[in-house]
Formats: sequence, C-alpha cells, structure tokens
Amino acid sequence: TKRIYTFGKSLSQGDASMKQLLGGKGANLAEMSRIGLSVPPGLTITTDTCADFHINGRKLPDGCWEEVLQGLRTVESEMGCNLGDAKAPLLLSVRSGAAVSMPGMMDTVLNLGLNDACAAGLAARAGDERFAYDAYRRFLDMYGDVVMGIPHHLFEDQLERLKEERRVTEDTALTAADLKVLVGRYKEVYKQLGKVFPEDPYEQLRLAIYAVFDSWQSERANVYRSVNGITGLTGTAVNVQAMAFGNMGLTSGTGVCFTRNPSTGERKLYGEYLINAQGEDVVAGIRTPEPIETLARTLPGAYQQLLDNCALLEKHYKDMQDIEFTVQEGKLFMLQCRSGKRTGTAAVRIAVELVDEGLVDPDTAIMMVEPGHLDQLLHPQFADEDAYKKDVVGKGLPASPGAAVGQAVFTAEDAEAWRSSGLPVVLVRRETSPEDVKGMYSAEGVLCQLGGMTSHAAVVARGWGKPCITGCPDLQVDEHNKLARINGAEIRQGDFISLNGSTGEIIRGKQPLAPPELAGDLNRFMKWVDERRRLGVLTNADTPEDAEEARKFGAEGIGLCRTEHMFFASEERIATVRRMIVAQTQEARLKALSDLLPFQREDFGGILRAMSGFPVTIRLLDPPLHEFLPDGEMTEVCEALARDAGITIDEVMGTIEKLQEVNPMLGFRGCRLGITYPEITEMQVRAMFEAAVGVLRDGGSVQLDIMVPLVGTAAELKNQEQLIRRIGEEVVKQSGVRVPYRVGTMIEVPRAALQAGAIAKTAEFFSFGTNDLTQMTFGYSRDDIGKFLQNYLDKGILQYDPFQVLDQDGVGELIKFAVERGRASRPNLKIGICGEQGGEPKTVAFLHEVGLDYVSCSPFRVPIARLAAAQAAV
Ligand code: PEP
Ligand code: MG
Repeated sequence: TKRIYTFGKSLSQGDASMKQLLGGKGANLAEMSRIGLSVPPGLTITTDTCADFHINGRKLPDGCWEEVLQGLRTVESEMGCNLGDAKAPLLLSVRSGAAVSMPGMMDTVLNLGLNDACAAGLAARAGDERFAYDAYRRFLDMYGDVVMGIPHHLFEDQLERLKEERRVTEDTALTAADLKVLVGRYKEVYKQLGKVFPEDPYEQLRLAIYAVFDSWQSERANVYRSVNGITGLTGTAVNVQAMAFGNMGLTSGTGVCFTRNPSTGERKLYGEYLINAQGEDVVAGIRTPEPIETLARTLPGAYQQLLDNCALLEKHYKDMQDIEFTVQEGKLFMLQCRSGKRTGTAAVRIAVELVDEGLVDPDTAIMMVEPGHLDQLLHPQFADEDAYKKDVVGKGLPASPGAAVGQAVFTAEDAEAWRSSGLPVVLVRRETSPEDVKGMYSAEGVLCQLGGMTSHAAVVARGWGKPCITGCPDLQVDEHNKLARINGAEIRQGDFISLNGSTGEIIRGKQPLAPPELAGDLNRFMKWVDERRRLGVLTNADTPEDAEEARKFGAEGIGLCRTEHMFFASEERIATVRRMIVAQTQEARLKALSDLLPFQREDFGGILRAMSGFPVTIRLLDPPLHEFLPDGEMTEVCEALARDAGITIDEVMGTIEKLQEVNPMLGFRGCRLGITYPEITEMQVRAMFEAAVGVLRDGGSVQLDIMVPLVGTAAELKNQEQLIRRIGEEVVKQSGVRVPYRVGTMIEVPRAALQAGAIAKTAEFFSFGTNDLTQMTFGYSRDDIGKFLQNYLDKGILQYDPFQVLDQDGVGELIKFAVERGRASRPNLKIGICGEQGGEPKTVAFLHEVGLDYVSCSPFRVPIARLAAAQAAV
C-alpha cells in the first residue's frame, strides 16, 4: 500500500477527492498543486498509516519511514536545500489533518530541522543572525511543547527572565546574542525534565510524526470526536511541508496581493511586497512595501510565476482572490489564498466581468454581490474609513446609511438659513418632528439624541437617502444654547462634524468624502437580477419627486404613499390642516378640507404620472391629529391660528388639550380618524379619483390602490370601503372616466392578522405595516426603543433591532398566518409589505419564502431589495 503522497509544483500524487485517505488539509494541498499552484512542496502520510501505527503498538509500519525519506528527496530537490544540511538547511512544518477538521487536536510544529549547526547555516545564508536564532528558540519551544510534552510556560518563564536581565520589555529588543543565550537556556529546560533535545533533524521528524499519530488518541481528540459525533475515521494524516523564507537576500521577498483591484474591480494585480523580508514585516509596517508592479522589474521570473498562479487560482475558485506569497531565492511560493474583500463598485464590476470571461454564470454572479455592496454604490462614502477612527466621538443607531459632512446646527430654521447661504450643515436635534422636515431636507445629514430605526427622523432621512443617526444615549443636545455634548466632547453651532450613517459613528471634523459611483456595469447586473426574482419591488414615496427618483432605482410602483407627509410640504398647507383640526363646526371643517383638496389632487396626479400605470398605493390619513399641532413655544402660533380660523384662542387651546393623548401611538389615529370624521376620507378619496381622471384624460394609465390604515376589525374596513366606493363612483360618474382602482388595508394591528380571513372578504390587497405590527406585537414603542435596545443587544436578549430586521419568529408567524387566511378567503389577494424592514435583505428572503407578492421600501433601498429578492430566488 502506498502510504506517502507528495505535493508541490508539478508533483501532486493526490487530489481533492482523497479526503478520507489524505485528510482535509492534505487533499487540499494535493489539489492546489494538481492545478499547478506553487505551493511549498511536501508530503502527506495517510490516515491508514495512523491506524496501523496504533495497531502495531506505536510503530510505523514496515517500509513507511523509507517512503518518507524518498518523498523528502523530491521536496529537497525542488527546494534546493536539504534536511540537516548546515550549508543549505531545509526547514519543515509538521501538521496533523484528519478527514474532518478537528481544531486543536495537535498544534503545528514550525522550523523543524534546526540544530546548532543548521541555525548557524541559516544565519549565514540569510545574512541575519537574529532571524535564525529567533527561529531556533521558537522551534525549541514549540517542539518541546508539542512533541516532548514540556509545558510551554517553562520556556516563557525563561524568556521573561532574560528580558528582565536585559531590562527590555519587547521580545524584539533582544539581540542575536541574547537569543543565542536563550537557546542555551531552552535546552536546559529539556535537560532539567530529563529529556533530550534531538539534534538530528531526521530524529526530530520521526518523533514529530509519532507525536501527531499519538495526538489522534489523545484525550482531547477523543472527547472532541465523541462530543461532535465524529465516527468512522481511521486516523489523522501527517502533513510535512517545506518552509519558504523571504529573507534569504535580494532574490527573496514576501508580499500580499489581490488578483483584481479590490476598490475598483479592475482586472489587474493589486498589492505590495518587500524584498528580503519575512511575512510579518509587511504587516508590521516598519518598512514601506513596494507596489507589486515593481516586482516585474526586480524579480521578473517570480512576477511571471505570480501572474500564472493568480490566473490558475481565479480559474479554480472563480472569484477574486487575496493572496500571501513568498519568494525564496527566486522561487515563488503561494502561502495562503482566500476570496478577497471588496468595495461595492469592485463587487459589481468583478461579478459582471467574471460572467464575460466565462468563469461564472449570472446566477453565481448575483450571489457574489452583497446587498450592502449596492448600498455603498448609492450613497456617498467616506474616502477612507480607517483614517477617521481617532476622531470618532460617539456612536448611535445607523438609521440611514451614507456619509454626511457639515457644520452643526440645532434648529430646522438654522439648517434652512445656513444651507441657503451655501453652507453644508448637519442638523443636530434631540428628536425631529414633522415640522423639521424642511430643515432636514436642507441638511447633509441628521443626528438625533432620541429615536429608533423607525423614528420620524430615520424614516424621512432614509426616504431621501440622507445619512441619519438616531438613538444616541451618550449625546446631550441643548437646542436652546445650540450645543451638544458627547462623551466629554462638545459640538457647538458651526463646528464641522461628520456622520457615518452606515455604522452610526459620529466623527469630529470635516472628513473627506468620495462620491457615489454608479458603475456602468450596474445596469447589466441589475437586469440579471430582475430576470430572476419573483417578488415585486415597490417603493414608499410621498411626493412626485421621490416617486421619480424611485423609478430610476427600478421601483415597480408605490407600495405606500403617506398622505400626511404632503401636509407638511409648505407653511400654507400646515396652516390649512391646522384649521381643519381646530374647526369648531362641521362647516368650518369642510371648508378647510376643500382648501386642502387641490393640494392633494395635484400631488396625487404627480405621483400617478411618475409611476405611469404601475400600482400606486395611497394610504388614508394615519397619524394622530395632535402631531400636526405646534408644541413648545405655541402662544404665537395659536394666536395666528385663532385669527386664521376665526375662533378664539381659548377654543384653539381647548382643542389642542383635548387632542393630547397619553399614548398617541395607540390612540386616535389610523382609520379611527376617517371613521369618526368621514369628511376627511371623503376629501382624500375625491382628490385621488380626480387626480386619476386627470391623468387618464391626458392619455396616461393608472392603477389606484387605496389603503386603509390601522384596521383591527373587518367592520372598520367595511365602513371605510363603502365610503371610498361611494365617492369613487361619484367621481367616475361625473367625469365619465373609468378609474381602475382597488381597496385594501394595512395589516399592522395583531388582531387584523388574526382576522385576516374576515378582512380579506372586503380587502382586495394587504400590505403588512410591520413598523406598527412590530410595535404592537412586542409592545415596544417604536420611538422609544433606543433607550434600551443597545442593552438588549449587549445582553443577547435581542439579536437585532426588530424594527430593522423582521422578527421572523413572532411577527413573521403572524404574517404567515395572515397570508394563509387571507388567501383562503380571497385567492387572488395581493399581498405586500411596506414597513421599514421591507428593504432589508434577510427580511426579503423570508418574505419570498412566505409567498408575498411584493415588498415596498424607501427609494434608495429599491436596488438592494431587488438583489435580495433575486438571491432568494436563485
Ligand atoms: C407601518 O406601520 O409599518 C407603516 C408602514 O406605517 P407607518 O410607519 O406610517 O405607521
Ligand atoms: Mg403604521
């Protein structure tokens, strides 16, 4: 039986299929050399040999050692040096490796082959005594520990003692002479325990092989196997491999490189190397490495080998690789390779080019780009995220991704004023309210002390693709004095700050930005994506501008138009809404409503046009009316309002007081408004139908989906549905234009999920409002979760923010139940989601499985959701 399999460039006797016999590591080394990679040569002793070793009573089977020596000859000839040769010593690593990986079964022995003569020879050859004796003393330590059973700490004690004697703290401060002394002391450690360090490298190797085989039967290995249920293995293999050194003079070196540029994706070797250096020197940053191209001049042979190896690697692994290599005396050795990390731009370009090069198919390419990569492509980024770390002053929730840089301002008015004089600003608030939207719009980014991932600021900022950080407990915002404190730092009005909305980092100063790069490859890539996904991807948009933006990102309609956001678009609108709210008579309310109608009609028209025939889901008024009224300094506003509405200031104040609620999120909102004040629903529905008629008359097409919010009982929906149909039919009749429309509901109250069967008798579509559904299922206020979320995450009580990533176990169960019941009573029920989780990749994958028809998310997340939907489908 063959017991030894050699590997190395052009000498592979095994392959990947021989895992049982060669172990995982051995089979992998065999495979890498089989495809032609320059792995340092070596040999694998089979797992069967291990079994025989134990059956024979700890003896190598006959002829085995001779076979090892034979294999060693091929390694020596490839390396051009020999085991135990003082002039050109070959050094080896010895490792275990079973068919199933068993971490920690046996540690590695490195630098095997050193003794006094070979250490001197290595020093001479490398021209570096310190290196040689450091390798020697490390070898004595490792070998003692792993092979001879000498506790590592005994060597460590000697090292510490010597450092004390030399009055140094760092190992690196010890000289070559010191290390020679240490070698002597390490050998003493052997002697004191009655052990003999084998000076003969062949004896070193033989004993190391024994030690690996013994480790198979060690207690920790047996326990590991029984705990992990690993059975049916014969033993471990032993891998004996040549060590390559990059510090053997000017024809040696070491480096790291990527097979393609990890920032741009360009198909060109990217990396650096150091001549006459060991691996650690590149990482340690003591010497400045040279760009990889200069290797072509200094060591052209090795450079060509590197190019060949990279090509082989990419062909084999079908992806961009990150490589560590060493050149020893002109010969290249590949030490490590793995799939390389990359930016969003690079990810898309590499995926597309690998398809063009015929290495992967589009399905595979789709899986190679992470949704987070697309996120990067769509928002401005910091030029260098490592460069600013020292300036980070604190951290909040990453509420809306991207990088923002500007001067701190503390009120929405200041944000607008500074912006209009051309200054970039970051708006810093305790929290934002709908009144702040124009200020937020003027800002590069928004920072809030309070709030969660679905708080007002977060939702609005994400909708615009504007960076935003919320829920930052260390931040104290003093809006009155226009300053903020965070972890001892002070942010004053006008100070430059930078926000990383993707990580939540708050950074001092003006950090350099890199613009979003929309690579030309992206369109081709997204076409593959769209061909593969089953889920529709719609957007949450409240204005014609947002709708147009979302179309550019590929949105196939609007899944949620929050009509209340339109009310805040101008002072005039807010004033009219307030008049509607404080109206003391129905007549006054109707007058205010009729003033609002043209605004809404115009906005709806714009949105319907922007979506040219794609479904547009418009939701009836949802938030508690109280949100539209002023708070804080309100005397002035109330006076104006009283004048404007023709009522007394007491009446205004009285109304405001009456509308105050202890728990507004569970209060007078959603369909409860429209049911109590049907004239509000009437106005909104009339505006929708009139807008639709306008678009249809101009030859456009329309799919109007009217959505009732916060329904908990079938009767609530029925009430609003009848009203909607009555008004709708009226407009249709008057205009003579038929408007295609559907009436549906949001499922955002747990009871609605449980009653989905009854509700679907009326609803033509469902849209899961998972912001409220999460709030009500957990009982976590969506605006206050920031106060305890981090604590919950730290303690492992929550794995993630459920307002960001859908809670599949709880909220997800409700969704599944509602989908099943809803479709049972109306088979063609259209079902989607419009909560914030709808653009989150894990959530999208889940909703694909559950069988939703579409997801709807903020415009900037549309491409991400498209990709996630495709990845779920391939
Ligand atoms: C929801 O509750 O998930 C939703 C989309 O509505 P809103 O966020 O406006 O309450
Ligand atoms: Mg809601």
